Amino acid sequence: MDTLEHVPLSELTTLRVGGPARRMARADTADEVIEIIAAADAIGEPVLVIAGGSNLLIADGGFDGLALRIAVNGIEVSQQGHRTRVDVGAGEPWDDVVGFCVSHALAGVECLSGIPGWTGATPIQNVGAYGQEVADTIVSVRAYDRRAGAIVDLTPEQCGFAYRSSAFKHSDAHVVLSVSFALERSPLALPIRYSELARALDVAPGSRPALGDVRDAVLTLRRRKGMVLDPGDPDSVSAGSFFVNPILTTAAFTDLQRRVAARFGDDVSIPEWPDADGSVKTSAAWLIERAGFHRGYGDGRAGISSKHTLAIINRGGATSGELVALAREMRDGVREAFGVTLLPEPTLVGISL
Ligand SMILES: Cc1cc2nc3c(=O)[nH]c(=O)nc-3n(C[C@H](O)[C@H](O)[C@H](O)COP(=O)(O)OP(=O)(O)OC[C@H]3O[C@@H](n4cnc5c(N)ncnc54)[C@H](O)[C@@H]3O)c2cc1C
Repeated sequence: MDTLEHVPLSELTTLRVGGPARRMARADTADEVIEIIAAADAIGEPVLVIAGGSNLLIADGGFDGLALRIAVNGIEVSQQGHRTRVDVGAGEPWDDVVGFCVSHALAGVECLSGIPGWTGATPIQNVGAYGQEVADTIVSVRAYDRRAGAIVDLTPEQCGFAYRSSAFKHSDAHVVLSVSFALERSPLALPIRYSELARALDVAPGSRPALGDVRDAVLTLRRRKGMVLDPGDPDSVSAGSFFVNPILTTAAFTDLQRRVAARFGDDVSIPEWPDADGSVKTSAAWLIERAGFHRGYGDGRAGISSKHTLAIINRGGATSGELVALAREMRDGVREAFGVTLLPEPTLVGISL
């Protein structure tokens, strides 16, 4: 196995921060993944799996261990009853997979166009956007189970998918090798659930426009928000949304309503998406804005995107420390104003809020 030493991880992350890894390796096959990880585990060497680096905030001090890129490729399509199964290697760039599905008349992931990163990372936080998430279509995740030292095929239930989370999210027990999706063979998108997307397409929610039209509309909306990686757009030097939308208990949401009414009056309504279990999801962006942090906030090298309140950006030369200091300021401001503690969406390595 060839490994490079002291590779700066900033070159592999979309936030362009992160000090060096002690060692860096790349695995192109499942066998190589097993060989490399088993060898590291045998000597107790920490392993950091890096894919597209678009959801990682790595400390300026770097990572004292092995950084491993899982570059297992391949897309295979097979028919299973009325569904089409698509098996995708972890190293396939996600947006290429969505483009492939759209051009082969396979519906179910079209709203996830333009999300950066590799396919093996999509189950980690159950990526989602514009009314779809990968948990809707994943039927199986093939992974290397580090404790068992074996390859396992996990069912969606075993993956523990939830909003921007899964059983993989805060655990390094599994390394994803490939992801299998069940898609509908159709030139039409699945029914549009997200009202902003329906408006952009000029259709009623629930309609089924052509797959290509949905992909184009999503990419246009995302570009406007700095949410596609674009070397010409300084607002895309981010990890996407830095905070997840908080999910509150009924009591916590009532407390939030009381604080908002005391601050802004009774007629201000808070964005709310109630769940059947009694919890209420609300908007992190709304809370951040109402706590006084506007788009473009920050006069240093770390700032808030001028196009999206939830994206913390590196304006050039920022350190991880500076990005985290801004994230803390935003989290603390929201907590002080509304009693809600925002949680970060990216994986933080060697650094915490
Ligand atoms: C501009 C922009 C827009 C974004 N928009 C969205 C969005 O709309 N919705 C959304 O959900 N996310 C969004 N994101 C976040 C990010 O793109 C996704 O989370 C993506 O899936 C991360 O993929 P990656 O390959 O870059 O993973 P990385 O950042 O390399 O890794 C992320 C985490 O997954 C782990 N990991 C990666 N690959 C594997 C593997 N094979 N096995 C085990 N663990 C692994 C890593 O160790 C790390 O903990 C956005 C990011 C950016 C920069």
